[in-house]
Amino acid sequence: MKSVMARRDALRHLAIFSAAAVVPGFLTTGCSKKPSCEDVSGLSPADATVRRDTAAYVEATTDPAKKCSNCAQYEGKGPDACGGCKVVKGPINPEGGCKLWVAKAT
Ligand code: SF4
Repeated sequence: MKSVMARRDALRHLAIFSAAAVVPGFLTTGCSKKPSCEDVSGLSPADATVRRDTAAYVEATTDPAKKCSNCAQYEGKGPDACGGCKVVKGPINPEGGCKLWVAKAT
């Protein structure tokens, strides 16, 4: 009887320790996480040139009023994910920006 109780206590403690190990990881991954949208390996050389030179796309714009997430060309997938753009190919950061920014129609 005593060993059954000891085993139950051990399993109960194991469950508590396991939950404690998982919760902090969940909290850190559940927080807002800035996406990295710099992988242009799937682009053609021409599309990569437009992105880099013509549009001068950057991952984080210096002008918060003109970021991708409030551009008419942006095709978003949420604040924590790379979106797309109608004119600049490749993954687009919602906090990014470029010279082709256009205000959304109001
Ligand atoms: S046009 Fe430029 S600013 Fe607008 S969504 Fe595309 S990359 Fe972002």
